[in-house]
Amino acid sequence: MAAPLVVNLVELTRRAGVQKDVSAEPCASEVGIDDPRVAADRPVSVSLVLESAEGGIVVRGSVACRVDVECSRCLRPVSREVESEVDEVYQRVPESADALPLVGEQLDLAPMVREVVLLGVPPMPLCRPDCPGLCLGCGADLASEPCSCGEPPADPRWSVLEEWRGDGQ
Ligand SMILES: [Zn+2]
Ligand SMILES: [Zn+2]
Repeated sequence: MAAPLVVNLVELTRRAGVQKDVSAEPCASEVGIDDPRVAADRPVSVSLVLESAEGGIVVRGSVACRVDVECSRCLRPVSREVESEVDEVYQRVPESADALPLVGEQLDLAPMVREVVLLGVPPMPLCRPDCPGLCLGCGADLASEPCSCGEPPADPRWSVLEEWRGDGQ
């Protein structure tokens, strides 16, 4: 399908209360996503119900997509499945700032889906809830290496332990 998210409104706007399901799995580039956090060929699961209402169309459902981000503490790559709720209103004459414009007899849901996916990308993702992050002093990745800046003064109790360990090997 060339434009899987273009809906013909003729049936839908004949009277209020008519519903139409829109389920599709276009790839990110097909909904116009051009963003390093979402691969162009990444499938976007779109599951929406459109319902005609007075002067417009109400769209509800969900949009899900896997996104590639970086842990905000240690910069490790993090891949996340992001699912976002959709609750939008398209109107011929927008009555509020939130309403989306409805023009002509076709509704292209792609721009809205694109916005929903990009708004759903977590702004401060973590690779794990207790990620210790990078040392601000030396840049050490504290999850896998010790901080090398400002070695704390040696504790005599530990040096005894070190010696004991050394003898045992
Ligand atoms: Zn991390
Ligand atoms: Zn450090």
